[in-house]
Amino acid sequence: MPKDLSGRQILIRGIVQGVGFRPFIYNLARRFELAGWVCNSSRGVEIVVNGEEARIRDFISAIRTDAPPLARIDAMAEETLKPDGYTNFEIRESLPQPGEFIPISPDVSICPDCQRELFDPADRRYRYPFINCTNCGPRFTIIQDIPYDRPQTTMSGFPLCPDCEAEYHDPANRRFHAQPVACPECGPQVSLEVRGKLLAAREDAIQLARGYLKAGKILAVKGLGGYHLACDASNPAAVAELRRRKRRIEKPFALMAWDLAAVQDCCLVSAQEADLLQSRQRPIVLLQQKPGSGVAPEVAPGQRTLGVMLPYTPLHLLLLEPEPGFPGLLVMTSGNLSEEPIAYQDGEARIRLAPLADALLTHNRPIHVRVDDSVVRVMAGSAQVARRSRGYAPDPIHLPFRARQILGAGAELKNTFCLTRDTYCFVSHHIGDLENYETLESFQDGIRHFERLFRIEPAVLACDLHPDYLASRYARERSAAQSLPLVEVQHHHAHLAACLADNGWSAPEPVIGLTYDGTGYGPDGTIWGGEVLVGGYQGYQRRFHLKPLPLPGGDRAVRKPARMALAALWKLGLEWDPALPAVGAVCEDDRAVLRAMLEKNINSPLTSSLGRLFDAVSALVGVRQECSYEGQAAMELEALADPSETCSIDFGFERDELDPTPVIEGIISGWLAGTPASRLSAIFHNSLLQVSARACEQIRRETSIRTVALAGGVWQNRYLTEKMVSLLEKYGFSVLVHRRLPANDGSICVGQAAIAAFSASRND
Ligand code: ZN
Ligand code: ZN
Ligand code: FE
Repeated sequence: MPKDLSGRQILIRGIVQGVGFRPFIYNLARRFELAGWVCNSSRGVEIVVNGEEARIRDFISAIRTDAPPLARIDAMAEETLKPDGYTNFEIRESLPQPGEFIPISPDVSICPDCQRELFDPADRRYRYPFINCTNCGPRFTIIQDIPYDRPQTTMSGFPLCPDCEAEYHDPANRRFHAQPVACPECGPQVSLEVRGKLLAAREDAIQLARGYLKAGKILAVKGLGGYHLACDASNPAAVAELRRRKRRIEKPFALMAWDLAAVQDCCLVSAQEADLLQSRQRPIVLLQQKPGSGVAPEVAPGQRTLGVMLPYTPLHLLLLEPEPGFPGLLVMTSGNLSEEPIAYQDGEARIRLAPLADALLTHNRPIHVRVDDSVVRVMAGSAQVARRSRGYAPDPIHLPFRARQILGAGAELKNTFCLTRDTYCFVSHHIGDLENYETLESFQDGIRHFERLFRIEPAVLACDLHPDYLASRYARERSAAQSLPLVEVQHHHAHLAACLADNGWSAPEPVIGLTYDGTGYGPDGTIWGGEVLVGGYQGYQRRFHLKPLPLPGGDRAVRKPARMALAALWKLGLEWDPALPAVGAVCEDDRAVLRAMLEKNINSPLTSSLGRLFDAVSALVGVRQECSYEGQAAMELEALADPSETCSIDFGFERDELDPTPVIEGIISGWLAGTPASRLSAIFHNSLLQVSARACEQIRRETSIRTVALAGGVWQNRYLTEKMVSLLEKYGFSVLVHRRLPANDGSICVGQAAIAAFSASRND
């Protein structure tokens, strides 16, 4: 018996379940010759140890330094206990505790150990498409409730075989308490179906599926969070056929490559981008395409970038395994018709994907939550998430302040919602555009699921000010039904607050917000989107805005940059010169109707949206007259911009209005004089940079604020973002840009919740 026996109870919070934490603690306790137990509870991981005091202290510090790679310790609390006479160390069953919560691990891409075993003929899981371990595999997409134990996952229907059972209970094994553990004997299996008929199972199914891809056919593949549609990315006919069936005209498709070298064959990849591609989140990374890449032009028409990801499940690896004559790059796009949510349940997938795919490579492990692939790009030297979903959700964002339990309902497009509790903000996976019943349903189901998983009962609801957003309606109805306070937040104020929260901004001082966006409802009833705000979580002032332009046809104008261009010319008192491509793109009859609409102010709300100004310029310089997806005109205008062009034109700058008239005039005369669109695009971008810096300087003179936040969808524009950051830094500003959350409407929910947190605390 050691002389100075003592005891300790330790509670650890953070991502500590489903990441090999208990076996780690078990092995650590044995290393330090401590007795006691460890268990998962709905608060985190709880540990009781007895042993020599010095060893207990070493044990506790080793918990922090040696924690498993996927674990994240947010807090550790210890309490001295009288030794209880334990003689060994054991792992105890999980303890559910009502009301308590822990973060849940996102899905994790296959780890190097599992990948090695997958291709090792001597391994008993050789070529088994569901190989996983404590360091990798599905998590969020299979978890139905907490604590995270196999019976509460979609693996509950697969009883372990004796071999898996032994590994599961062996603390020295990599699969000790790995909840999704499985093998060919006891686990899920793949199968290939054609028109509802089972054609092959297991390895045969995979080989047959590869045959379909090789032959230029379209394959539906069940993945982690839903189905993909796959085809050979170098086969223009296959890609064109996929576009036709999916009714997706031009929006770029994502690609999957076998390994980094295969990505480097078609794209320029920086060291930072390589790390992102190979990170355990395995997002789609937006990369610069190499000329002559061999990728069919139909994959990303009008773009210089490609979205590429690496395989993240064993099934993907088996599907993409290199072989002479087999495509090195696959299109891997979401399994849905354009605009619909991605299919994830087998029954509905069979029906919805039947007209889209020639064959269905499926499996019998159910997906509990539909989760899309995440999208990331490197901008101004660091990674910026454009869509935060698989691999990231439901990892919480840490707020720089404590919040009550608040629901942020999010925006209409690219919806995500969030729930706050203490300093945690659980941001949902990408829900999508709330424009149809299925998406609205997954929004509501998602909220219910998150509330149960994280034991949150919102005391305050926050939503967008917009009268018609479905997410806002949900919040208003719920607020009425449950008598909960409702905070309605202006869209661009939410953008600004989201950017602050993303940057851990806790200071009460206001900042300058360049909230450059598509559209958002303004409190004056007009549509905002080119705003220079001064404010913070507590409030804002609209210091500058773009001169409002009419939006003929309202929201429908978003798809018609040519009409937007004509409306801008009309408003700014400029002629509709038929030599201009935008004027030529609208037939004479339509022009007459449009002029009447503008003159009589019929269905032509005013907007200060910068997104719409981008559309107008894109049309004026002949880049894009009609869009098939949101943001297309602006993206193509950016893709064209010549970075060596340094010219700019001054915006009109009066009181609180930034007037683009001189810029538009300059661009038109440039076009008529034969200046290439690449230069005109750059001149437009540069002019915007100059006027933005000027507005910031003006505000600094008035208020001495030196911090600028770049928020809103326009900041997905890399040309603009990188040059804006360096210009403002040159002028002595410190600049906040989005990193962990998207600059687009995918982060609106966080801004709403943060603003509500402050208004709620004021009212307490
Ligand atoms: Zn693994
Ligand atoms: Zn087994
Ligand atoms: Fe927005």
